[in-house]
Amino acid sequence: MARPGKNRGKGTNEWRPRTQMVHAGIERSQFGETSEALFLTSGYVYDAPEQAEARFKGENPGYIYSRFGNPTVSMFEQRMCALEGAEAAWATATGMAAVNAALMCQLKSGDRVVAARALFGSNRYILDEILPRFGIKVTLVEGTDLGHWSRALKQRAQIAFLETPSNPRLEIVDLAAVAEIAHKAGAQVIVDNVFATPVLQRPLEFGADVVVYSATKHLDGQGRVLGGVVLGSKEFCDTKVMPFIRHTGPSLSPFNAWVLLKGLETLDLRVRAASDTAATVADFLAEQPGVTRVLYPGRTDHPQHALAMDQMEAGGTLISFDVADGKDAAFDLLRRLNLIVISNNLGDSKSLITHPATTTHQRLAVEERAHLGIGDGLLRLSIGLEDGEDLKEDLGQALGGRKPKRRAALQGRKRGR
Ligand SMILES: *Cc1c(COP(=O)(O)O)cnc(C)c1O
Repeated sequence: MARPGKNRGKGTNEWRPRTQMVHAGIERSQFGETSEALFLTSGYVYDAPEQAEARFKGENPGYIYSRFGNPTVSMFEQRMCALEGAEAAWATATGMAAVNAALMCQLKSGDRVVAARALFGSNRYILDEILPRFGIKVTLVEGTDLGHWSRALKQRAQIAFLETPSNPRLEIVDLAAVAEIAHKAGAQVIVDNVFATPVLQRPLEFGADVVVYSATKHLDGQGRVLGGVVLGSKEFCDTKVMPFIRHTGPSLSPFNAWVLLKGLETLDLRVRAASDTAATVADFLAEQPGVTRVLYPGRTDHPQHALAMDQMEAGGTLISFDVADGKDAAFDLLRRLNLIVISNNLGDSKSLITHPATTTHQRLAVEERAHLGIGDGLLRLSIGLEDGEDLKEDLGQALGGRKPKRRAALQGRKRGR
């Protein structure tokens, strides 16, 4: 397979993450541009027929067709490898294409997948509806219960699949423990790391084998484009992911790759700022009379707070909370918000809020939603880059309380968190 060498001539592995986000993977053209070039091309020309022949034989480095290789897309893949500490990566058109490719590139009829039950809605759809149609057995477990993983992995399985923090209740799965159990059973661990981002959590360091992202979320971070990426060993990416993407075509557009490269430059700054704000908003929500429960991994009352702090550098940019009186109260709150907008997306510079029971998880049966703790009063809030005081004021007034006085709000900031 002809893709140009990845040697950028500089010691990219030695840079710290924030530097990698700006510089890793850059492949400058003969014009020496500072900003990454956008190679909006589907094909490539050859100097001679012999060169085309050699390139198809894999004997001449260079691009062949943008379904499976484009310089702008490669720059995004290489930058993601540097951030994740992965050997190789393949970019995809969406996060779901990344999840689907990571699974379908290797599974066959008769195989078995063990997955945590609490997942992004479309991840559940692939596991519940698509894989079984191809004779692939799926066993769902409580992701937070290591006993469940052990029992389910007593029988042979090919893949263990999980999200941590999970959507929408922000449960934390013990990455190192699940990796150990899964590896004993001969299973590869695939982690959907969207909620934590590579800034706050790098699953490969805890023993995971493959990491997938929806780049649509924090990696873009400004709500502009869809994208995804699969990261893992060079062997897995070359022999499994590449042929699957090359021949089935869920490829990332070079334009979107370019937008994502620009998004990555500010990823560290954005995620840390939003996570700091989320911590203060979570504490504010916990004090509100109409709020019965706040789920935020950075708070000490989160059921897996200690584990979260072992695996993650901070609590993250998402908060889930329950309001008393169910759907009516939740909808009232959503209607009254002036600043925070109603949207099922997340990881945007704008704060977004959604009611999972009627949106992202409405497909699930009532009993399954109850099992997952997705009640009618549950709301999921994705914190953006606004001033946290404005977010608190908006939530405070929408919850029917009086507006927090500016002075009180400022004192809150001085207390830290
Ligand atoms: C959004 C999301 C996806 C799917 O990504 P798309 O880019 O929307 O296809 C998968 N997993 C998680 C956890 C997500 O939040």
